[in-house]
Amino acid sequence: MTGMDTTAEPTTVDLLVTGADLVVTMDDDRRELAGGWVACADGFVTAVGSATDTPPAATRVLRADGCLVTPGLINTHHHIYQNLTRAYRPATSSTLFGWLTTLYPRWALLDEEASYVSAWVGLAELAVGGCTTSTDHLYVHPAAGGDLLTAEIEAARHLGVRFHPTRGSMSLSQKDGGLPPDSVVQDDDTILVASEEAVARHHDPAPGAMVRVALAPCSPFSVTPELMRRTAELAERLDVRLHTHLAEDPDEDTFCLETFGRRPIEHFEDCGWGSDRSWVAHCIYPSEAEIARMGAWGTGVAHCPSSNMMIGGGGIAPVVDYRAAGVPVGLGCDGSASTDCASLWLESRGALLLGRQRGGPTSFTARDALELGTRGSAACLGRLGELGVLAPGAAADLVAWKLDGLAFAGALSDPVEALLRCGPTRAHHTVIAGRPLVEDGELRATGLDDVLARHRVAAARLQGLDA
Ligand SMILES: [Zn+2]
Repeated sequence: MTGMDTTAEPTTVDLLVTGADLVVTMDDDRRELAGGWVACADGFVTAVGSATDTPPAATRVLRADGCLVTPGLINTHHHIYQNLTRAYRPATSSTLFGWLTTLYPRWALLDEEASYVSAWVGLAELAVGGCTTSTDHLYVHPAAGGDLLTAEIEAARHLGVRFHPTRGSMSLSQKDGGLPPDSVVQDDDTILVASEEAVARHHDPAPGAMVRVALAPCSPFSVTPELMRRTAELAERLDVRLHTHLAEDPDEDTFCLETFGRRPIEHFEDCGWGSDRSWVAHCIYPSEAEIARMGAWGTGVAHCPSSNMMIGGGGIAPVVDYRAAGVPVGLGCDGSASTDCASLWLESRGALLLGRQRGGPTSFTARDALELGTRGSAACLGRLGELGVLAPGAAADLVAWKLDGLAFAGALSDPVEALLRCGPTRAHHTVIAGRPLVEDGELRATGLDDVLARHRVAAARLQGLDA
């Protein structure tokens, strides 16, 4: 069987990635092509093939000798600005609620410069770890902070990373029974106007879009039920996706029962969010009946393995049960102040380990974990078929992982299992929309030292330290 699509193939393509040991397509047949290659033109894959297929002529050839090639990994949950408060000492031994209340006043100092440099650093860090598309849940919008969303989108454009920022929000402050202080919340009307403006200005619904905006009230304990309802209506009208945190911590169950008289997922449904337009972060603590309901809705879950382990209250998201119920499950690294390290390779390995920890050693494979970070994540973003697969017509987003050196010595029989069992590793090449952002293990963006210096100044300001 050939992987070549001769009908759509131009005579000369822009980019040919070739010489790979194996290309894992993650296509509908889950084909794995030995000695494979991927041809790209105008930001899309035009053809894939194995060693026995002849590749097209290319303007540019990127060698992938000794590499496993996979679709680019997709990050479905993040708070990039939190890399300004990584490993922040006063919060490192707290529960989720204690950690949040320690950090909210720090994040109240965000401004456009901080948003830009944190996004640049965060997205570059992700690209080095094999990520080609990332969401961001930016839910802190201080009154004096300026247009934080536009600032982070600018960073994504400068780097060339495919970006799904969400217009996050918080409207339920301590004086109204919520968790955050007044300094980081806005009123419902202000949030809805800003949400509509963000979509009008930045959202691109076209195939191959580099920027799409979703709407994202933060969590049951930081927004009003009314804002949840009105945001769902607005997303329907604008035809954009919905994102929020859900069932993340046992304290959230208590809060929802005491405040709304319902469990978090019942509250979510009651607010009109039970739909395939929504994907939610964490979802560690559903009941069996709630898992079935989520499958019926088609609501996606961003599984965040490191976050589950670091601050998730001791639980592990029931990934296998979700998938059996038809829930799309993707991967997320979560915010840089809760798990501090943003690598989708690491989260894929974490998903493999936690899957087996929860269900035993026969319950979950490296291919399952890789499927979460590719097809599953693409489904969470409503882009399955376009992202997360290497097939003609899909976006030209891929990663070449070089399986050599000390960490991979002796791993000869199954490069897919080796990718996540061995390591640690990072991308040899990361190609986004047909353009290499990481090449031969090096970030190809200019200005890294300058951005890191500016990031240090912004981080010190937020933490109240000298730069
Ligand atoms: Zn989060």
